[in-house]
Amino acid sequence: MIRTPPEPGAPAISGHVPLSVPEISGNEWRYVKECLDTGWVSSAGPFVDRFESEFAHVVDSAHAVATASGTAALHVALLVAGVQPDDEVLVSALTFIAPANAIRYCGAWPIFIDAEPDYWQMDPSALERFLSEECDFAGGMLHNRASGKRVRAVLPVHILGHPAAISDITAIARRFGLAVIEDATESLGARYDNMPVGKLADLACYSFNGNKLLTTGGGGMITTDSSAHAERARYLSTQAKDDPIEYVHKAVGFNYRLTNLQAAVGCAQLERLSEYIAAKRRIAEVYTAGLGAIAGVRCMPESPRAHSVFWLYTILVDELTYGQSSRELMASLADHAIQARPLWQPLHLSPAHASGARRHCPVAENLYRQALSLPSSVALSAADQARVIDLVASAADGGRSRSL
Ligand SMILES: *Cc1c(COP(=O)(O)O)cnc(C)c1O
Repeated sequence: MIRTPPEPGAPAISGHVPLSVPEISGNEWRYVKECLDTGWVSSAGPFVDRFESEFAHVVDSAHAVATASGTAALHVALLVAGVQPDDEVLVSALTFIAPANAIRYCGAWPIFIDAEPDYWQMDPSALERFLSEECDFAGGMLHNRASGKRVRAVLPVHILGHPAAISDITAIARRFGLAVIEDATESLGARYDNMPVGKLADLACYSFNGNKLLTTGGGGMITTDSSAHAERARYLSTQAKDDPIEYVHKAVGFNYRLTNLQAAVGCAQLERLSEYIAAKRRIAEVYTAGLGAIAGVRCMPESPRAHSVFWLYTILVDELTYGQSSRELMASLADHAIQARPLWQPLHLSPAHASGARRHCPVAENLYRQALSLPSSVALSAADQARVIDLVASAADGGRSRSL
């Protein structure tokens, strides 16, 4: 029987150390009560406006448009960036599936770009190789020689709290005339080359799902410095109302708005963002100090160009040296009520995207085999974290040299 651990983002069960649960101990109750008391509960209201403007300020963006989810944000951002049916969009192979799905919602096709082995993000050199060796300019447009399709945009995903080499990726994309949409859903607050993620892109997307750094229960955000893009994103995510009185619509829009109730939670969470990030970085430091000396375990890296928010602290387990595979270690931890998780099946292997072009992504495959994310909740106690570290240390060599 397959054991189904609680979903990341579910409330903590006592004695159990979950992967990542929300931290709700600020003004959430007070702001939600204010919505209920005033009747502003739906997709308009003061907290939506406040959440958008405070969020834009935090990520240093001119505009922010709140959406019902991170996936909805990605869908709308791709449309706003001009992605058309049958276009191709270059996306990280090693990521949660949502960005690839959003590409398909537009009728476009994902082309999966491998990860780099150092920080596990989209490899700029693999991107550059694909564009220069496998694409041609024809009539001022870039085409994939193999498929004949137009290549329209790049969608790098900043996975696990660490930013991708976004300065390099954006420079390459600009050289080939491509739009850049950043999936920053896992890396709110991260910086690269001393710039917040999302800063260099045409549009960036965030998520406030229960397991993310900051939660509204469910929700998302699009940020952009372009007022035209922001206006279009707002239009498409609110049913494309051209005349809201006469119900005239010139386009097919979506009901993708965040509610005032959710935004109220978001405002309270946003007040604590720097505390959350400090907690995640402290947790990472303790893991790195505690696990760094274990043979066969590689700790989560941070590029000297990056400021990571260590959303989920993830290790690489070398089976031969460590004595257990990442999956065996996951099972050992589960025996002690500690929830660990592998990364996502690389998308070039995903049955859901099997109709797209198959590319070779060996780095993503190796990371998938070796990676294991460890409990990383903001409120993870020192005692629980010490228990995780002890168990990882004693499970080495299959637990044969020491008893668990
Ligand atoms: C969580 C996540 C999303 C989607 O966010 P939702 O709010 O759950 O729709 C998109 N991309 C990545 C990489 C994610 O981790």
